[in-house]
Amino acid sequence: MANSNCKYIFVVGGVISGVGKGVTSSSLGLILKNRGLNVTAIKIDPYINVDAGTMNPTEHGEVFVLSDGDETDQDMGNYERFLDLDLTSINYMTTGRVYKTVIEKERNLEYKGKCVEVVPHIPLEVIRRIKEAGKNAKADVVIVEIGGTIGEYQNMLFLEAARMMKIEHSKDVFFVMVSYLPTPSKVGEMKTKPTQHAVRILNGSGIQPDLLIARGETKLDDKRKEKLSLFCNMPADRVISAPDVESIYDIPLNFEKEKISDRLCDLMGVVCKKPDSKKWNKWKKFVNNVHNGKEIVKIAIVGKYFETGDFVLSDSYLSVIEALKYSSYDQNRKPVFSWLNAVDFEKDSNKLKELKKYNGVVIPGGFGARGVEGQLKVIQYVRENKIPYFGLCYGMQMLVIEYARNVLGLKDANTREVNPKSKNIIIDVMESQKEHLKNNLYGGSMRLGSYKAILSDKTIARESYGKKEIIERHRHRYEVNPAFIEILEEKGLVFSGKSPEGDLMEIAELSKTKHPFFLGAQFHPEFLARPLSPHPLFNSFIKACISKK
Ligand code: GLN
Repeated sequence: MANSNCKYIFVVGGVISGVGKGVTSSSLGLILKNRGLNVTAIKIDPYINVDAGTMNPTEHGEVFVLSDGDETDQDMGNYERFLDLDLTSINYMTTGRVYKTVIEKERNLEYKGKCVEVVPHIPLEVIRRIKEAGKNAKADVVIVEIGGTIGEYQNMLFLEAARMMKIEHSKDVFFVMVSYLPTPSKVGEMKTKPTQHAVRILNGSGIQPDLLIARGETKLDDKRKEKLSLFCNMPADRVISAPDVESIYDIPLNFEKEKISDRLCDLMGVVCKKPDSKKWNKWKKFVNNVHNGKEIVKIAIVGKYFETGDFVLSDSYLSVIEALKYSSYDQNRKPVFSWLNAVDFEKDSNKLKELKKYNGVVIPGGFGARGVEGQLKVIQYVRENKIPYFGLCYGMQMLVIEYARNVLGLKDANTREVNPKSKNIIIDVMESQKEHLKNNLYGGSMRLGSYKAILSDKTIARESYGKKEIIERHRHRYEVNPAFIEILEEKGLVFSGKSPEGDLMEIAELSKTKHPFFLGAQFHPEFLARPLSPHPLFNSFIKACISKK
């Protein structure tokens, strides 16, 4: 199919947030992709922040970094993982980003003296971006997820853009509403009224959904399907039941059971191939592994973003968890995660012994001083007790500091981020970032996105990847200080991955003869782990975890 007639599917949410709009969008993308269509996806976040980089992960969840360095929402990670795609900044937009462009254009006289107004100029910029993303990807279908819930003031201009797009391209623009049907425990039956109201609110914006994804604890029965069909103005076969599932990876399969791809293809008027059975078989095999892990592998994640309870906690490290899962599933294991608060290890040294219960320990990325001393204690313990350890970004920097403190004897070793007064600043700010930081320009002052690294032979890193040159995504301000590299290496720490110029340390590890797996990566390997191609470093870590007695 040529993409001159690119189709746009807007996904909006009704009733409550957090019922899986992102996963629905990703799943719709996957089922269409498996019918031979070229699919891309866009996330619209209604907040003013120009990117997600300046947001606290406990408030907004993980910051997902794209290959071009854009700091975005975790849903972008879901799209990349489900669709096995690399997206770029054109696939992500926020209110702030849209307004910023419009204001810049106005300053550059691009509106040729016109009065620039919220409507139509803001929606027009939204539409321009959506079309450009479609064009860049040569897409047959662009899935556009509008963040937030129907009825909110915040996403109105994006709905307005969608409505305007529908006027211009009436045969190419479609709407899917993901809504929630509560089953109040005292009532004991699934209620459709909130969804009916949500559809009416959407109608008030001039939009009629074409497909309704009815999320709920249980399956939607025919009676309620009929009711929704009648009150939400659509044939009953456009109301799709989407009950809770054990794993999000079941969802595309369930959607196909409901024949959604047929329905969407009919709706869009596209003739597409039959579902690709080879591709589905791979996905089914993966999902089978998700459900049938033989034994468990116990992993402790020692993090610092714990303030707002378990729910948000796992959101803060979403890609890390998914990456650990893929490698575990791939090796027939069921991963069990324990969340350990780094701060707790500062108060109570006895707690360290508990680490013996785990097959492996991960310290993920982070910022600032809180919890760092606890993390350093944890790393010393797992190093000395030969418990597999995987440090990601801050977790790698901590690994190097711990080694400097306890093996090199530099007791005050630290990162400039935590103690700029230390005599031994092992992790220091990069020259190029000093100017930014002096001027308080924190937003966008980091090394972001994909960079090459070269791996040394006969190291865990090199063996894991099976190649010499890698490209990985970064998000950090600080680096291993070149002044300490020689003495660290003399004392046995191996920098097995370096930037092509050799000046930036990308991977630090201990030789397998000294420790089963003690490795840190300055980059974020978790951003490249995909369900059907788990990440080589996570694979090696899980392998070491499985071998641990
Ligand atoms: N805070 C560290 C730095 O900025 C690590 C960042 C991270 O873990 N993403 O360099």
